[in-house]
Amino acid sequence: MKRRRWMGPAAFAAAGAVLLLFLILGRGEQAVILSYSDFWLLAETGQVESVTLTDGEYWSSTLTDGTAIRTPNPRAVDGKERLLALDIAVKEQESALPAWALGLIALGAFILFSQSKGKGALGLKKYAAVQADEQAPEISFQDVAASGETLQSLKDLAAFLKEPKRFSAYGARAPKGVLLYGPPGTGKTLLAKALAGEAKAPFFAMSGADFVQVYVGVGASRVRELFRKARKAGGGVIFIDEIDAIGKKRDSGNDEREQTLNALLTEMSGFSESDGIIVLAATNRLDTLDPALLREGRFDRRIEVGLPDHDQRLKILEVHARKKPLHGDISLESWAGQTALFSGAQLEALLNEAAIRAARRGSGPILEADLESAFCGVTVGEEAPRRMTEAEKRVTAWHEAGHALITHCMLPDARLTRVTVIPSSRGAAGYSMSVQPDKLLHTRRDLIAMICAALGGRAAEELLLGRDNVTTGAANDLKKAREIAAAMAKDYAMGETGDPDKDENAILIQAMDSARACLKDHRDALERLAHALLTKETLRENDLKEILSQ
Ligand code: ADP
Ligand code: MG
Ligand code: ZN
Repeated sequence: MKRRRWMGPAAFAAAGAVLLLFLILGRGEQAVILSYSDFWLLAETGQVESVTLTDGEYWSSTLTDGTAIRTPNPRAVDGKERLLALDIAVKEQESALPAWALGLIALGAFILFSQSKGKGALGLKKYAAVQADEQAPEISFQDVAASGETLQSLKDLAAFLKEPKRFSAYGARAPKGVLLYGPPGTGKTLLAKALAGEAKAPFFAMSGADFVQVYVGVGASRVRELFRKARKAGGGVIFIDEIDAIGKKRDSGNDEREQTLNALLTEMSGFSESDGIIVLAATNRLDTLDPALLREGRFDRRIEVGLPDHDQRLKILEVHARKKPLHGDISLESWAGQTALFSGAQLEALLNEAAIRAARRGSGPILEADLESAFCGVTVGEEAPRRMTEAEKRVTAWHEAGHALITHCMLPDARLTRVTVIPSSRGAAGYSMSVQPDKLLHTRRDLIAMICAALGGRAAEELLLGRDNVTTGAANDLKKAREIAAAMAKDYAMGETGDPDKDENAILIQAMDSARACLKDHRDALERLAHALLTKETLRENDLKEILSQ
């Protein structure tokens, strides 16, 4: 009797909570999803009214015409700053749902749980964030640029996924967990999808953040559901993005994460060689992971996915240029050279933004100029958000010319790809970009030359303005120079006296003297460079070669 009286209102409340949840989620799903780069294009052209930052997968924003849009959350540190600088209202929200809604949902779920004990969390499945792709994704390794080793490892995995029995018949131990780690936007998600696509295997994806965002118990049950689905499908690729969200070193006090992590570890030791399941996980932060995750039989294979090198950048540009009409004069080779330190996602954004610019014009192919103007948006924010004074520009031109000249003279193997005096949104007045050859070992001379190149900016300022007028613009350079010198003195025993502090200073003084001497010896080239920078603002590899070869 007692029980019945309780059931009536409880069932009613539960139904209400679930209905409410659908309403809320439904509304969220109606919002237009806009890529990160398109979002910034709108933001920068004054079409974004307000933005709500969350910890979730998306930012939601409202356009000036009232349209609700969602944008993949880059979790970039300077996002908010950029928005505020554009006069866009920024709200912050811990969770995508308002607190009262969460409260109601928790209540509803609690009731559902207690009524359906043993039968699994009824109803919860409806909104579990498993992204199941029963069909294999339609991409292959052709669509990803990666290093030879990375591709080879993944091809091995694909072979295993295609015919797990063949491997187990030979007693070959199947790989279970593979951890992809590296900076954001380098193609970890893409690689996981391509693996499934290549092996024609289903793809089950979930983000670590989804496991821990909701209330206690759900994370663990979602993990189990994920594996259940994969088993039911007869194998496939399970992809757990942002695994650090659940796999952080245990810090007692987060029960939810602990439970989720334990469920994951149990599932991973639970499936057998012949199930044909491979678990891939991705993280930007390998160092924060719980060592339990990295043990034998868990994520015991690790693949580093780093920033692309020149050839990979070319390949990435080619992949994303496939369906875009590019003007015949555009050399992707040259753009690959100019985009050192770009991630794959940034390269994709570069082409995409250029395409948007061309589309706005409405006729003709994508032009070099579109790429030029997109370049600034992707790398260093807006061109000149604040006007530089002529004097500042002049110092900056000399400063950058100093770096460039010394790099050219003292590091003959390095390729100078881009020198510019256009200020970046991150506060640097200008920058010089060079690509150093990958070397396993550096000589003492190499290291000194690197220090000289770092000090070249300050040395050039000194030459132009005299000691009293050098600027704070060299702060980062000096830090870098000091770091190299310190490593030489301490780690490599490359000093004279064996006293690290003394050696470090001696190395710095020696390098500064060499930098000054080099600039004085080539003062005409220095002036030519500085002058060209003042007029053209940005010098590319070919411009630089021409000026320096005179
Ligand atoms: P991550 O998961 O490492 O953060 P993503 O796989 O989400 O990176 O990359 C985002 C997008 O950037 C991809 O969908 C793709 O368009 C592009 N991209 C990134 N890396 C590559 C790559 N190596 N080859 C081709 N495209 C890439
Ligand atoms: Mg990703
Ligand atoms: Zn500098």
